[in-house]
Amino acid sequence: MIHVVGGGIAGLAAAYRLRQHGHDVHVFEASDDLGGLAATYETPGDRIESFYHHLSKSEETIVELADELGVGDRLEWLVGKNAYYVDGVVHPLDTPWEILAYPHLSIYDKFRLGMLTLGVDLRGGRPRFDSYESLEAYEDTPVREFIVEHTTEGVYDQFFEPLLDAKFGSRKEDVSAAWLLGRIKFRGERDLLRGEILGYFDGGFAPFIDALVEAVGRENVTTGARVTDLSLEDGAVSTLTVDTGAATETHDTEGVVVAAMPNVLEALCGYECDVDFQGAVCAVVTMDDSLTDTYWLNVAHDAPFGALIEHTNFVSPDRYGGKHLLYVASYVQEYDEDLWQASDDEIEELWLSHVEEMFPSFSRESVERFRLARNPRAAPVYERGYLEKVVPYDLREVADGLYYAGMASRAQYPERSLNGGIVAGFECADRIDARAPADEASSTDPRDPDRAVADGAGEK
Ligand SMILES: Cc1cc2nc3c(=O)[nH]c(=O)nc-3n(C[C@H](O)[C@H](O)[C@H](O)COP(=O)(O)OP(=O)(O)OC[C@H]3O[C@@H](n4cnc5c(N)ncnc54)[C@H](O)[C@@H]3O)c2cc1C
Repeated sequence: MIHVVGGGIAGLAAAYRLRQHGHDVHVFEASDDLGGLAATYETPGDRIESFYHHLSKSEETIVELADELGVGDRLEWLVGKNAYYVDGVVHPLDTPWEILAYPHLSIYDKFRLGMLTLGVDLRGGRPRFDSYESLEAYEDTPVREFIVEHTTEGVYDQFFEPLLDAKFGSRKEDVSAAWLLGRIKFRGERDLLRGEILGYFDGGFAPFIDALVEAVGRENVTTGARVTDLSLEDGAVSTLTVDTGAATETHDTEGVVVAAMPNVLEALCGYECDVDFQGAVCAVVTMDDSLTDTYWLNVAHDAPFGALIEHTNFVSPDRYGGKHLLYVASYVQEYDEDLWQASDDEIEELWLSHVEEMFPSFSRESVERFRLARNPRAAPVYERGYLEKVVPYDLREVADGLYYAGMASRAQYPERSLNGGIVAGFECADRIDARAPADEASSTDPRDPDRAVADGAGEK
């Protein structure tokens, strides 16, 4: 029997692929619900994720899995309109003319920014088209230095810096240029006349996760079951201990996939991961009226949140009983920050009063419900040298039969995602099935550009 620690998307994907390979498998999930960070709230209609979620066109494994699970026809590709809030004005930034009309960048800044997003290196006035092919080449380059050298100071100050502030706060100087280039490539497809094309399931991600659980087999999953210990025999995993609240159980095991955050891995086996994480605080505000006509509003303003994401400008409010759903989101770098320390009521008051100040037409009377989610490890900080820190899928250096599919794995770079979680789960399951010796890999250097992400690069 192979055991999986964690019933988020990565653990469920690992279990699904192991079952496909013909292995007996059991998933233990500490909380009462499956889905991990993709957990949902009830609404008068479809369920809604407590943390905003959508797919990018560049993500393929989740689309293939949805097809395999029979829910591929529920996946819709919709336009998600982007805008920037600066000095009290919402500036749409989707079409070429909206970008041309944006007043906070010069035409030259826009040209250099546009070339960078198209992957064209214009340094020295001579276009080069292959400069950004290897992300690893920029692993040690500070993001600011890269942007200023490859575009202009204006592009950094007026465009990227507020975004970096919102995403990484006090850690923005630590972030690598490889992360930025990866994000640009990751975003995928745009409709020139309408904006970015993003994926979402009819019914949200809940029906997709339900279908995955169904395929794993409900009888092969236990919720409310926290794995508290792993024991080894002759250098291999031998038993795992599970606390179900009512009892403590010990199970013999042939293999363990840890599909949870690296602190869980460390607690179970002592493996120390150097990846730093940031926390997230995210509200879903249920409103009678719409706030803007934008899906994703970046906020370059002195506000205690980084983005306002109006989900019902992406998916119709009809799916939610006619209600409008707005995410208000902020990342925290240190747990002693005021926001992390504030109570839910304090955050509601702080955030809604700022929304009121930014949008005079907004009325609190419109707010029906304010639900807040927090997670202390919502995303890695993709700092310079990050790839040296990723946790290998196969942890035979710690114990034979031990695997890692959590958020610090290679598939979750340069952005953590549901797709990355599925890839990580599959990578572990395939390695268990193949039992390939580690030295058979073509290279043990995770920074080797020849080792593709989906190919399981990142083994230490
Ligand atoms: C604010 C925010 C926005 C996001 N936006 C997007 C997006 O737009 N698109 C996208 O694709 N992705 C997005 N993501 C990322 C996506 O949610 C994650 O990458 C993905 O859900 C990670 O899945 P996972 O299974 O690796 O981890 P998790 O979802 O964290 O699952 C780990 C599970 O392990 C369980 N667990 C922990 N310890 C134990 C233990 N000892 N025993 C048993 N169980 C244990 C936990 O309870 C949890 O259920 C977002 C995430 C956040 C926080």
